[in-house]
Amino acid sequence: MFQKILIANRGEIALRVLRACKELGIKTVVVHSTADADAMHVRLADESVCIGPPPSRDSYLNIHQIVAACEITGADAVHPGYGFLSENAKFADILAAHNITFIGPSGDHIRIMGDKIEAKRTAKRLGIPVVPGSDGAVSEEKEAKRVAAEIGYPVIIKASAGGGGRGMKVARTEADLEVALATARSEAGAAFGDDAVYIEKYLEKPRHIELQVFGDGAGRGVHFGERDCSLQRRHQKVWEEANSPALNEEERARIGGICANAVADLGYSGAGTIEFLYENGEFYFIEMNTRLQVEHPVTEAITGIDLVHEQIRVASGGGLSVRQEDIKFNGHAIECRINAEDPRTFTPSPGTITHFHTPGGLGIRVDSGVYSGYRIPPYYDSLIGKLIVHGRNRVECMMRLRRALDEFVVDGIKTTLPLFRDLVGNSDIANGDYDIHWLEKYLAKTE
Ligand code: ADP
Repeated sequence: MFQKILIANRGEIALRVLRACKELGIKTVVVHSTADADAMHVRLADESVCIGPPPSRDSYLNIHQIVAACEITGADAVHPGYGFLSENAKFADILAAHNITFIGPSGDHIRIMGDKIEAKRTAKRLGIPVVPGSDGAVSEEKEAKRVAAEIGYPVIIKASAGGGGRGMKVARTEADLEVALATARSEAGAAFGDDAVYIEKYLEKPRHIELQVFGDGAGRGVHFGERDCSLQRRHQKVWEEANSPALNEEERARIGGICANAVADLGYSGAGTIEFLYENGEFYFIEMNTRLQVEHPVTEAITGIDLVHEQIRVASGGGLSVRQEDIKFNGHAIECRINAEDPRTFTPSPGTITHFHTPGGLGIRVDSGVYSGYRIPPYYDSLIGKLIVHGRNRVECMMRLRRALDEFVVDGIKTTLPLFRDLVGNSDIANGDYDIHWLEKYLAKTE
């Protein structure tokens, strides 16, 4: 087992990882920017190293500084959290070259999944169902038209190097295709420095359903069921649930089995999430994230398994603590992402939190790094906390969530809490009847 883990992240996820390390008796080092000197994870860590000024590129993305911090403190492993360097293959390779363990998959696996064309090709080879589309990059208009005619309109053009929902264009007719192809390519080139794009069938009303998987790096793979993250705004997840209100046990076992076998075949190591669009009973692979997800706590709530413990165990060579048959799903869980944003316009609302009171009681978990008197720096993501509620079934979970949202107090800044108070009383949400466009339509209607 590791002696000392360096946490290369900030905010709630840095604290989340720190808690897991403490429970495993592992010493912790955190790195932070000058803007985060007062952060909770810095206060609670055994050691901290300031690695630079506020902008992420000079601090949380500064590989040299982070490697130097490992060497100075003698850390033998790095947990990257999510975002920042968590899916940076070069970072994983550099750590390996310094004999420091990256708590995550190999650089090669990160690289494959970071290139969406390669990821889709790999998924297909591993028996994962994919969205019908081009067999690789498409640059010629003639070929684009041929592929689109074959799969049928509407189609979506996506950047191979894409991420965060950027660089995607929908074409509903052949006349749209020419413009869509040209704009998608130039936007992809400008945003990612790579203008390779591919074409897929555009699904009109899918749900976003993702499978939590783990590989032990030695040919064993398991799945921890799915999460439904269909409630999104601008492709950003807002509310997540486990399990999905749309799946039955048989579908769960079938797609879960496919995903577990795929990570086993790949020789994948650590946590991963295989994301699908789901429509009319069919799953369509869109991408694989090779890291811990923001929404992992809903899976922890219904399985009772600490996924960060598992990541650390696997990375240290100790293997997974569970076999597939040990993973049982108990009840229902929902996570609300609480952002420091205006609940209507979603513009960031940094500033000082004058009062912070979290709900409690059975089935309530709040993951947050903020506190009364904390000043939210304007440089980073606006996520300030996550409310995770567990109940014996979805109805109990929703009732408990409503109660917990009423108790939650964040004063001094605007947050998205009022949005969740509206959603929890909505009949479509109560019925689990929503797709990936539901939230945007709801927001437009209630403007
Ligand atoms: P990114 O890596 O940029 O997040 P994804 O491939 O995960 O890109 O897609 C992000 C979102 O775009 C999906 O959650 C979905 O809302 C939409 N999307 C992607 N592919 C399709 C498709 N074939 N049909 C309909 N919507 C899609």
